[in-house]
Amino acid sequence: MRNIDHFIDGRRVAGTSGRHGDVFDPNSGQVQAHVALANTAELDRAVQSAVLAQRGWAKVNPQRRARVMFEFKRLLEVHMDELAALLSSEHGKVHGDSRGDIQRGLEVIEFACGIPHLLKGEYTQGAGPGIDVYSMRQPLGVVAGITPFNFPAMIPMWMFGPAIAAGNAFILKPSERDPSVPLRLAELMIEAGLPEGVLNVVHGDKDVVEAILKHPQIRAVSFVGSSDIAQSVYALGAQHGKRVQCMGGAKNHGIVLPDADLDQAVADILGAAYGSAGERCMALPVVVPVGEATAQALREKLVARIPDLRVGVSSDPQAQFGPVVTAAHRARIEQYIQMGVDEGAELVVDGRGFRLPGHGDGFFLGPSLFDRVTDKMTTYREEIFGPVLQIVRADSFEQALALPSQHQYGNGVTIFTRNGDAAREFAEQVEVGMVGINVPIPVPVAYHSFGGWKRSGFGDLNQYGQDGVRFFTRTKTVTQRWPRGGAVADQSFVIPTMR
Ligand code: NAD
Repeated sequence: MRNIDHFIDGRRVAGTSGRHGDVFDPNSGQVQAHVALANTAELDRAVQSAVLAQRGWAKVNPQRRARVMFEFKRLLEVHMDELAALLSSEHGKVHGDSRGDIQRGLEVIEFACGIPHLLKGEYTQGAGPGIDVYSMRQPLGVVAGITPFNFPAMIPMWMFGPAIAAGNAFILKPSERDPSVPLRLAELMIEAGLPEGVLNVVHGDKDVVEAILKHPQIRAVSFVGSSDIAQSVYALGAQHGKRVQCMGGAKNHGIVLPDADLDQAVADILGAAYGSAGERCMALPVVVPVGEATAQALREKLVARIPDLRVGVSSDPQAQFGPVVTAAHRARIEQYIQMGVDEGAELVVDGRGFRLPGHGDGFFLGPSLFDRVTDKMTTYREEIFGPVLQIVRADSFEQALALPSQHQYGNGVTIFTRNGDAAREFAEQVEVGMVGINVPIPVPVAYHSFGGWKRSGFGDLNQYGQDGVRFFTRTKTVTQRWPRGGAVADQSFVIPTMR
């Protein structure tokens, strides 16, 4: 059996804890590798390597640090297909979608190439008599990222791109379900010229996450995953004096107004609901048609098109989505489907029991569609994270606006309409962090930033963009005075002011 090692001090290091996790190929359902699960001593070894490396890295001028990022971006392009195939083989998403996962991370690396500009501080000449004030952004030291299974390339790069470009050393704890791509990314960073020890990968589960949160030399922790864990990571990290940002789960709504281009909306909803088997925090698992006529027409168009969706192995170029990540996750999704039936929703299309010929042990699930879901149902209130679309009918714009606003999650939302006034009003009023207007998956581009509201995000800074740079740096402000000589100023016992 292949072993997946840690990556410490610039090289692969076999695990010594005696614990490992199974890594499946979701297409075949077979265990394909064992990933080492680190203990506290292994984490500490990585942190000590990072502490030493960071001192030198922070002194490298920003333009040279940017050059490592430029070269890393080039290597990502060279290795794109190899990385995508590796990603698909552990995650199950189709090849084109894996390329998208890598490309979205690459775009954050492109943004991080601008780090000399991004780190520039502010300067005020003559803030007082002979007084100038300037500020600078300095790295924090050693920082860490804990990432989920569903974007094993993009989310690590959201974090380590800005963090390393800004002069920090980074400990990455990727998901133990698909750990190979994060490991390859670290190797490519070294190949791009990053000094050994600046980026370390430590695999593991809850144990090593707790060790990261308690480690006295780790200054900040960025987390992305499910909300209950995000909240507990936020609390434990803060208790240990760290800067913490934690992105959580989601239940994104697509509002369809009566004037929407319905054919376009249906095409967009199908892709956003079922793409990546629904395992995206920006998926669109809830659709809210406004008015009876819109609901009826939308339902008919969805029902007509769902049977044509192609579920297949991740290497099938015709497949629109592949298997889910593990058998346990498939069982959980199936439980939610049954719960929906028991709660009284109408199961219009049932994806349970789908088996792909020749891949009977793979973790496949067909697309499911529910109608007449209500906001009282547990299956509406909770995140399912699978290929399940729920129609929640609304009578009015106000009701459609209230649904995502009152939901516990507030990651993304989309409105389909031709009415600019309604779209503008919706974007302004809705209590959700990322809004799409006729855009089904409104993941912001790399030079804006990504973050949800309510139980989708704990902490106050978003991922990537300027917020990413702010999260991984701290401001130092210098007030300087160079007296011209002459009379000595009187001593003063009151707070200096600018009168
Ligand atoms: P998860 O919460 O199970 O795991 C996330 C990370 O936490 C992993 O590295 C895992 O090893 C670690 N972990 C697992 N159990 C832990 C515990 N008890 N204590 C401490 N750490 C623990 O999430 P997942 O299943 O890998 O990913 C899917 C979830 O992530 C979904 O809820 C999805 O919505 C969310 N997500 C959110 C965003 C976002 O930006 N808001 C992006 C992607 C995914």
